[in-house]
Amino acid sequence: MIRRIPEKQFAKVRLFPEKAAVASPLGVKTLKMILFKRSLDLKQWLSSQKSKGKTIGFVPTMGALHAGHLNLIENCRRVADLTICSIFVNPAQFNDSKDFEKYPVSIEKDIEMLTHAGTSVLFLPSVEEIYPGGRANLENYDLGPLETILEGRYRPGHFQGVCQVMSRLLKTVEPDHLFMGQKDFQQCLVVQRLISILNIRLEFHIVPTVREKDGLAQSSRNLRLTADQRKNATAISEALNDIRQNLTDGNEAPVLGLARKKLDAADFKTDYIQVARATDLQPIENWNGKEKAVALIAAFQGDVRLIDNMLLN
Ligand code: AMP
Repeated sequence: MIRRIPEKQFAKVRLFPEKAAVASPLGVKTLKMILFKRSLDLKQWLSSQKSKGKTIGFVPTMGALHAGHLNLIENCRRVADLTICSIFVNPAQFNDSKDFEKYPVSIEKDIEMLTHAGTSVLFLPSVEEIYPGGRANLENYDLGPLETILEGRYRPGHFQGVCQVMSRLLKTVEPDHLFMGQKDFQQCLVVQRLISILNIRLEFHIVPTVREKDGLAQSSRNLRLTADQRKNATAISEALNDIRQNLTDGNEAPVLGLARKKLDAADFKTDYIQVARATDLQPIENWNGKEKAVALIAAFQGDVRLIDNMLLN
């Protein structure tokens, strides 16, 4: 029997408390993971599992896995009977073809990490499997202002690409639970909107960002940083912390100015530093300290573009 999330939980978003970001390993019962390359095979297998009453949790990724991804898997295993992870470097969401070509791939290591993390299934489709009719004339989703602000402004077409792959993956997996990272804050809001556009019932879990000891948000792109760039890269989380600690009513311009100076000093080329409403990412100019707000940064270290954010309250 398929366990349906009750109506009132429709596309419910659950923000984990910050402490949940620290992984505490669950016992791994078995080191067996099934690998599917075709949507139809996965769909059939999932349907047999759902008919046995198993609940499905889904963690979509682009691979080059790190502790942040494993934390999503860990959280998923806590709530779902079966944890499905996908690895698919989605060409449709890369507005910069060089960024796509240079995206790190480490599939063998990923398979080992996922197996040891107790993942039930890895879905590893080809581009043809996800886009059997090619990538011309794809559907367009009405994402509202989210599509063109912040990441959308600097990466035109990115969120349509995210929606194209997510809609296909969600239709294949039909999960009861979806796990994504707060690290990609705007992506979470976009996917939340997509879930309601597609009228899908699931519980959406947004998991806090896992960081390196020095504060740098874990990211597959960190692998592309040179040793010097890696040292500089901590300036992003330091700048976000400074904003979080110092922002009060009426001092936004000087506080953001200092954050920008910090990034400049660390050789970053900054796309944006923004304080925004956490619900829809509309810019906040004079934060009253009460409204749920988030500070977001996107900046280049050399040719590696890094993003990060921190909730202010
Ligand atoms: P990606 O492979 O970069 O597409 O990321 C796959 C999922 O992992 C997305 O939901 C990301 O938000 C999430 N994620 C990436 N980095 C982190 C991190 N440092 N902490 C927690 N989640 C993350």
